[in-house]
Amino acid sequence: MSRFVDEFMAELRAKNPAEVEFHQAAQEVAESLDVVFDKHPIYREKKILERIAEPERVIMFRVPWIDDKGEVQINRGFRIEMNSAIGPYKGGMRFHPTVYLGLLKFLAFEQVLKNSLTTLPMGGGKGGSDFDPKGKSDNEVMRFCQSLMTELCRHIGQFTDVPAGDIGVGGREIGFMFGQYKRVRNEFVGVFTGKGLNWGGSLIRPEATGYGAVYFAAEMLATRGETLEGKTCLVSGSGNVAQYATEKILDLGGKPVTLSDSSGYIYDEAGIDREKLAYVLGLKNVKRGRISEYADRFKSAVFTARDDSKAFNPLWDHKADCAFPCATQNEVNAKDAQNLVKNGVYVITEGANMPTVPEGVELFVEKKLLYGPGKAANAGGVATSGLEMSQNSLRLNWTREEVDARLHGIMKAIHKQCINASAAYGFEGNYVAGANIAGFLKVADSMLDQGVV
Ligand code: NAP
Repeated sequence: MSRFVDEFMAELRAKNPAEVEFHQAAQEVAESLDVVFDKHPIYREKKILERIAEPERVIMFRVPWIDDKGEVQINRGFRIEMNSAIGPYKGGMRFHPTVYLGLLKFLAFEQVLKNSLTTLPMGGGKGGSDFDPKGKSDNEVMRFCQSLMTELCRHIGQFTDVPAGDIGVGGREIGFMFGQYKRVRNEFVGVFTGKGLNWGGSLIRPEATGYGAVYFAAEMLATRGETLEGKTCLVSGSGNVAQYATEKILDLGGKPVTLSDSSGYIYDEAGIDREKLAYVLGLKNVKRGRISEYADRFKSAVFTARDDSKAFNPLWDHKADCAFPCATQNEVNAKDAQNLVKNGVYVITEGANMPTVPEGVELFVEKKLLYGPGKAANAGGVATSGLEMSQNSLRLNWTREEVDARLHGIMKAIHKQCINASAAYGFEGNYVAGANIAGFLKVADSMLDQGVV
């Protein structure tokens, strides 16, 4: 490791102790940028990366609410306003018991570079709460969302900070939060993306992250003259990203065979077809059930319960061509990465944020697999959020075809930026370096233009 990376990381660790995911994300980026700094010392002199790694603002607050039994509950709410060099802060809200400051700082940091890659004018942010929507009634979720927004509404706005969904935050939660924002602030503006179609949402936004990841995989395959047609695909997760990645894999002729949730995974050797996928959407989005129920319904599938005593996740241990991790961070460990390689998987496209541990990333890069890191491959979601913001400003709604065509064009542009940046700095075919460098340069040059702020 270079002296710069060592020193940068030592300071970051000292300033942000115990924020392990943030350290992990920052280290990868610092390593990719070392050669850029050698070529352009101005970025080092002006401490651009050090500034990007320090949030412009962190908001942390109490979220008290009353459950259905009349008991007072207290959660913690956060919004990390990371960087506004190229546009208003933009990034999702995550509701999950594992949420803490360090997790959201990693996500906000990644978001800065991701949003830069989208070609749209969006800065980076992220937020959320340690609230767990699982097992809560609709009324409890509503009371929680209203309490959170009562505080958050004074910090966000259509020109300052525009949140969206993430793990545990879908259409229902966005509706409740948007409703409370509108009520307290007395303004109907595009302060959230992922809104319902009747109240300012964009067609294709729910599909965008999953569709975009598969478009990115198709672009990577095209560099080898191949397509997704006939390819067997492992997909993890069964939430928003996994559902629509599965749909687009089917559209492009691939065969998805797995889905998961935090209790385990299903392997359906016959393939998850459109009818089965429709069942999953109902199961997860309406019934809010568990993925094990899929195997009760479809006899071609086997459910394997999660077993944390195992050194690997068996989901990643099936013969396949492509893998789409679409659940959560660090879900592909070093052993899983070896299993993927052993089983012939040569296209890995991350729908989730940072789902692969550093040793796994290293292995994929070393083996020259077609490896699309999350900040490039899953940028279709936030890109379409950007398109939702444009439509809100224009007070117009574009058609499904129009939004999808723009999304597809953006994913091609992101792919091209990764290829060009990696080639320009001597990392041919390395999408990790390409995404980090291309994402960084636009933000860094904007920061140079704007002075030390
Ligand atoms: P979601 O709809 O809430 O679905 C998350 C899925 O991952 C669920 O199946 C969930 O299972 C599983 N999961 C979550 N935490 C887990 C854990 N600790 N262990 C095992 N499984 C876990 O969320 P999503 O929007 O699809 O987000 C999935 C990933 O994509 C996240 O990394 C997110 O940051 C990233 N992403 C999302 C968007 C977007 O537009 N939504 C955009 C870019 C990136 P359970 O239901 O059992 O918890």
